[in-house]
Amino acid sequence: MFVNKNNNLNIYNFKIKIKGLVQGVGFRPFIYRTANIFSLNGNISNNNNGVVIEVNCDNNTLQKFIKSIKQKAPLASHINTIETKKIKFKKHNDFVIKKSINESNKITEISPDIAVCDNCLDDMKKQKHRINYPFINCTNCGPRFSIIKSLPYDREKTSMNKFEMCPECNSEYTNVLDRRFHAQPVACNSCGPVYTLYGKNKKLFELDEIILEIKNIIKKNKIAAIKGIGGFHLMCSATNNIAVDNLRKLKSRDKKPFAVMFRNLQTLSEYAYINNIEKNIISSWRRPIVLLKKKKNLASKITSSLDTIGAMLPYMPLHYLIFETINEPAIILTSANISDEPIIIDNNDIVKLENKVDAIITYNREICNRTDDSVVRIINNKARLLRRSRSYTPEPIRLKFDVEGIFAAGAELVNCFAIGKDNLAILSQHIGDLKNIETYSFYTETIDKFIKIFRLNPHIIACDMHPDYLSSRYANELYNKLKSKNKNAQLIKVQHHHAHIASCMAENNINEKVIGVSFDGTGYGDDGNIWGGEFMICDYKKYSRKKHFEYIHMPGGDRAAKEPWRMAVSYLYSAYGDDFVDLELPFLQNIEKAKLKILKQAIDKNINSPLTSSAGRLFDAVASIIGLCQKSSFHAEAPMRLESIIDCNCKDYYDYKIYETKISFKDTIKQIVIDVINNISPSIISAKFHNTIISVIFETINSISKETNIRNIVMSGGTFQNKYISENIENKLIKHKYNIYLQSKIPPNDGGIALGQMAIAAAI
Ligand code: ZN
Ligand code: ZN
Ligand code: FE
Repeated sequence: MFVNKNNNLNIYNFKIKIKGLVQGVGFRPFIYRTANIFSLNGNISNNNNGVVIEVNCDNNTLQKFIKSIKQKAPLASHINTIETKKIKFKKHNDFVIKKSINESNKITEISPDIAVCDNCLDDMKKQKHRINYPFINCTNCGPRFSIIKSLPYDREKTSMNKFEMCPECNSEYTNVLDRRFHAQPVACNSCGPVYTLYGKNKKLFELDEIILEIKNIIKKNKIAAIKGIGGFHLMCSATNNIAVDNLRKLKSRDKKPFAVMFRNLQTLSEYAYINNIEKNIISSWRRPIVLLKKKKNLASKITSSLDTIGAMLPYMPLHYLIFETINEPAIILTSANISDEPIIIDNNDIVKLENKVDAIITYNREICNRTDDSVVRIINNKARLLRRSRSYTPEPIRLKFDVEGIFAAGAELVNCFAIGKDNLAILSQHIGDLKNIETYSFYTETIDKFIKIFRLNPHIIACDMHPDYLSSRYANELYNKLKSKNKNAQLIKVQHHHAHIASCMAENNINEKVIGVSFDGTGYGDDGNIWGGEFMICDYKKYSRKKHFEYIHMPGGDRAAKEPWRMAVSYLYSAYGDDFVDLELPFLQNIEKAKLKILKQAIDKNINSPLTSSAGRLFDAVASIIGLCQKSSFHAEAPMRLESIIDCNCKDYYDYKIYETKISFKDTIKQIVIDVINNISPSIISAKFHNTIISVIFETINSISKETNIRNIVMSGGTFQNKYISENIENKLIKHKYNIYLQSKIPPNDGGIALGQMAIAAAI
């Protein structure tokens, strides 16, 4: 202790430990400036999982100092805990940033990529060495995860390592009062990365010329490939259907909507309905794609069959420079890949598209970690991630239990894996459909990278029970390799829907028995059937299946998941028997009688017609019966289109029957058929059908809760991406005093499965 003679205050030496995402986000200079404001002497240094500050001050000032840290911390930082204690008195004479001591198995958190900040956009017009410099950044913004090769996060360990800082950049980099102090990717027009355009018969190096050429390409409805933060985008006009058609041909993508980048919020609000919460998310430093309700069409073929549009705002300096030059309200910016392959990141790979695009615009800095644009939907005023990638990965999910050394392999179709460090679940970026060979190698490469970057020693492997999932096979191989070295290695196989519920429980930090509602398209069940309309009681360790949608055949197996008319036939056959062929349903008239006969036989003889309780397949069947969608041209098209046409004023619903263990929709199907025959509008039928599902969930929960006294309701699975269902059931359950939990930070679809697998493995 030290008594200050001027005001008689007791001055101590305090040690403040701050944990969370506080590295690579401008946190140390921020602390330096804050200490200066309070005239505090001491120091700050990085440690493994945060920063450590020492300061000389009295108790009162300490409280004010901490309050200010909490309130004014840099945007992309995240403070998890602040611990303070008095330590042995040592007098400090100034405030210094100490050099970091690193290298340990404990990780420091890695910042996700951050959209260019307003100050940098300003500097881009003012700073002499950065006029229109398209890679401008500072400690508050710029690439992070996408350029990192290994830890600690220092320039030498990023793909900025090959660029030598010019004296001017270096003086900013080393000046603690400068916004670019220790901004690892700091660069300028004379020392940093540059864009090059490769066109048909031309090569451009000057940025002005490149941007003029981009303007030309957009105007002529042609397509350019542009290297972004986490991979290449394909870019074209968003106001012309010829451009959209060209893009669809190039990507072999039939109808799936394209994401659109709007000039700014004001322009966006002419084309889409946007509330304040949506505004905040779309213009946040993460700049995700946000699903919004359409107001006015851009080119009609962008999202022809849906009432939503995936919108985003500029987030790279180049995006802003493009919009300065063109007059368009928006441009299409979609991942550069062919159908299901991962987004292209490599200059050598983009050359494959050479003959298909009009120009390739690339830059000479390597993308180390591939990320797609993330996708968010606001449901009940809360942002819900549907695809978690750029600007979210690799931010960890903080758990209340230890998951050290666990590797969770994820699902198959919408894959994302997870690794565990301490109490942190670090989920990979969205990987995609592993059945695609290129995507599978992206999966294995990324696992290797994560294990290396985060220095993981896996000893527990968790995977889906499905024997044929490629992720499960990978898990098996990894386990066999580990087993020879480590006797304690374990492989834990997790039921798909249990994992969905556990994922939502872990995200919401729940550790007690819950009623889980897990609705999706497909998941391997205990009995070998395909589950997907499940009510279970569970905790992390165990689950018991209480009720499920009545089993129905999927004639054609996997094909039934892509061709909704097959599910429609199956549901009609089960509701009406042989007579269904005589129903006066328009969609049936378009199917050859011989084809119907084959389908019936397949069901009767159980040939390639697995049983399913899937909610997704029920939505498919309804979409087909009302004539909305017979073949899906993209994943979940039928349910999405069904949701798109709901008449929200209709509160009616259809009959259904809840039995001891199963829920039957035979009555629902019959009443829908009557409505179709009576020419009731598809919007009304869709509303009644959705209301039926909500009613089924509510009634089933009531009965299970009465029997078990459980009031915690956890809902997950792809179906809960449906805004109408999620909002209505959540509100209804809240009104009846249930504790209801949905997902938000982690997708409710199979992209969230890995977290559930990890939580279950940790508990077991
Ligand atoms: Zn900045
Ligand atoms: Zn420079
Ligand atoms: Fe699923």
